Amino acid sequence: MKAIAVTPKQKDSARLVEIDKPNVADVKDGRGVLVEVLRVGACGTDREINNAEYGIAPEGFDFLVLGHENFGRVAEVGESVNELAVGDFVVATVRRPGHSFYDRIGEQDFTTDSEYFERGISRLHGYMAEFYAESADFLIKIPPAIKDVAVLLEPLSIIEKGLKQASDIQERLKIWRPKTAAVLGTGSVGLLTVMALRLRGYEVHGFGRNEREGYLNAELCEAIGATYDSTAEISVQDSTKKYGEYDLIFECTGYSPIVFDAMQSLNENGVLILSSVTGGDKTVEVPSDRINQQFVLGNRAMFGTVNANREHFELGVKDLALCEAMYAGWLARMLTHPVEGLKNYEKVFEILNNAGEYKAIKTYFEVNKI
Ligand SMILES: [Zn+2]
Repeated sequence: MKAIAVTPKQKDSARLVEIDKPNVADVKDGRGVLVEVLRVGACGTDREINNAEYGIAPEGFDFLVLGHENFGRVAEVGESVNELAVGDFVVATVRRPGHSFYDRIGEQDFTTDSEYFERGISRLHGYMAEFYAESADFLIKIPPAIKDVAVLLEPLSIIEKGLKQASDIQERLKIWRPKTAAVLGTGSVGLLTVMALRLRGYEVHGFGRNEREGYLNAELCEAIGATYDSTAEISVQDSTKKYGEYDLIFECTGYSPIVFDAMQSLNENGVLILSSVTGGDKTVEVPSDRINQQFVLGNRAMFGTVNANREHFELGVKDLALCEAMYAGWLARMLTHPVEGLKNYEKVFEILNNAGEYKAIKTYFEVNKI
């Protein structure tokens, strides 16, 4: 079968390869599920792996099949799989257990291992292929009503984990009635965050670098009752004069200096969520006394979040369904750049490398018809 693979640490090595079709029997204890891949989303992670910034091949291979944002249909199930049937739509989680205590209790998204096992990223082949085999334990069943937007579930799961942790952390307060939120970054992850917070009843303010005029992402913020401001015109900190301080801030820009701006824009008892993976070595001068004092005197909290577990995917399924019910058609507007067939992988990377020019929000392969 066909797949898209890279040679890790070799720049621009993405190519179409022919590999063996997997088998339900590849998974032990009869728990195997063979999935026909329908759609695979592409994002900055795929771009960075093809750019040789990271990515590790599975043991015994000199290539890595890419792809972590997946959506497919069950083609065959092993004899011990009762929860899924042929024809069901599914999305697979990405990280698999390693060795730490967290991994052993099924919380591999909190692993303390330095070696990760992530499909399409590290040590495991991904989903940019015609089929994959996986244990039913790592598959999330998708209601047919959201099949057309379910390729957004994996990126949404990252946000669900962040918001779940924020609400767990805020249990420290006997009462916490958050009203306003700021979302820093309005790419695909930022827009899904705006959506998830609007569904939770927040007054949401989105911030991006682009000017508002003619920017589809800004239009999408406003279409569900959020605002959009360009940080070229107003800093996040200055925006608090307009909107007040934020009870919750979700950072997903990839631009680390903005974190310190966010730290100074948080309300008392508020919570700041960091989700950008910033691999560079940027430094910045900050008013450290003031920031520290605000955090101490205002009981403010800040934490980082990465990856997601089964429960976060399940929360995401509910939010996708609720979003379709509340803002019908909105999610589909995020699916700006479908590319038909794995053979057109060069087009996918062309769009990823020039996302601004293409005005792409979500680029994805249509591997097979839904
Ligand atoms: Zn991704």
